[in-house]
Amino acid sequence: MTSPLPVLVMKFGGTSILGQRGMGRVAEILAPSGPSTVTVVSAMAGTTDVLLRGVRSAATGGSGLEEAAGTVREDHLRVAGVLLGGREMASFADHLEDVISGYLAHGALLAAANSKGRCYLEAAASAGELLSAALLAAVLRERGVAAVPVDSAELLITDDHPQAALPLVAQSRERVRGRLLPLLRIGTLPVVTGFRAGTAEGEVTTLGRGGSDHSATLLGALLPAAEVWIWTDVDGLLTADPRVVADARLLPEVSYSEAMELSYFGAKVLHRSAVPPAASAAIPIRIKNTMRPQGPGTVIEGRPAGPGGVRAVTLVEEACLMTLTASPGAGLNRLAAEVFDGFADARITTLLVTQSSAEEVVCVAIPRVELAAARDALQRTTHLWAQDFQDQVSVVVLVGEAMRGTAGIAGKMFGALGEQGINVIAISQGSSELAVAAVVQRQDVGDAVRALHRVFGLGGSDVRPDAPPQVLR
Ligand code: ADP
Ligand code: ASP
Ligand code: MG
Repeated sequence: MTSPLPVLVMKFGGTSILGQRGMGRVAEILAPSGPSTVTVVSAMAGTTDVLLRGVRSAATGGSGLEEAAGTVREDHLRVAGVLLGGREMASFADHLEDVISGYLAHGALLAAANSKGRCYLEAAASAGELLSAALLAAVLRERGVAAVPVDSAELLITDDHPQAALPLVAQSRERVRGRLLPLLRIGTLPVVTGFRAGTAEGEVTTLGRGGSDHSATLLGALLPAAEVWIWTDVDGLLTADPRVVADARLLPEVSYSEAMELSYFGAKVLHRSAVPPAASAAIPIRIKNTMRPQGPGTVIEGRPAGPGGVRAVTLVEEACLMTLTASPGAGLNRLAAEVFDGFADARITTLLVTQSSAEEVVCVAIPRVELAAARDALQRTTHLWAQDFQDQVSVVVLVGEAMRGTAGIAGKMFGALGEQGINVIAISQGSSELAVAAVVQRQDVGDAVRALHRVFGLGGSDVRPDAPPQVLR
């Protein structure tokens, strides 16, 4: 089956579709977009957190499940009540009750610790995407655009890894094309749920928190699309998180490799698994601001862009540095092999690795949310003698493809941090020189990012009038 070219995938994040204004704005962007657009939506901002809070409460015998269901119901009915007319409203309200019943059932089954508890958690966590997709499709129809919601659990096939399933590309291709291309052919806009996927056996899985970006690029690669547009609440990829650095500047062009490093090291604007599917299919990704659709945004493509040196500073605020010592006589290699094998199985994100062969010690930094899973994996090692965890640390990273061959970047980084009185606990520089990462105390990370942003000359001349409030002092 050939695609009605050029197909465009447009993904809207949780803040973009939040509330009646968000949904309305997105519908305005989509209405004139023509018959070859596939839309992917996250849950409305906050919904996934509420849903997860509800099931966690139920799991510990609390009464939060009903409360969460009530909040989600109200939030969606409020938006629907403003944007939908009688018929669409009635059918959306029916769908909403079905989804909420499913959520309550999954939450109750989870609380009963049923053996299939895992897929119930995924189904409950991703109920918000079922609602946002149905609501946006209804809003579009209300405005005369033929649109239908599509559940990605039936399109994207993955393995069954909890909360971070891996897509099985070959198995997904036929389903994606078989379902979406006929819709495009008859001029109907599919509104696909992000985040959700499913095993070949039909159990719901999820692609990890923030995973709707990944859903979008996967669909883009499988269709294939001419471009994937990620619509969000900032102008594009910036030289730093604007919540940390007020004068962060837009990067108009970024290479796939740079975008991969940025997203891997905490630039939340793009999920860390989102770039590879687009890169391997040579599909450009554009990042655009829903509030300023006319802005140029960022385009992410194959070729390196920009002058040499550092292009952005990023951070993983909540990290943990593990110091792992080998049993006497085991040797560093044996310990490292065991540790990383276990981490690979548990899909732990390794942010930085250093070693001391004399002491037979390996140091690994990971995001703090993955600490429990990492501890589990370490329990299965046989060559681990001692372990120490520093869990009040952050990782600061300089990213830039053209850093290769630029002398003195690590030295300048140390100098800048030293001048601020910031102690560097560990540092690593990959041989590709795409990223230089340093571990600092959690309380220093805001100052560290701002100092590096300044020293490497990344800032604009002015603080933007609409710069978001600073969150890291
Ligand atoms: P969405 O809800 O659209 O998926 P996210 O909240 O997941 O949006 O990602 C957007 C946020 O990413 C921005 O509000 C910004 O604070 C954060 N961010 C972190 N680093 C960067 C960066 N380098 N460039 C742009 N945004 C960044
Ligand atoms: N709704 C999911 C989350 O909050 C996925 C996403 O927003 O991309 O993590
Ligand atoms: Mg996101």
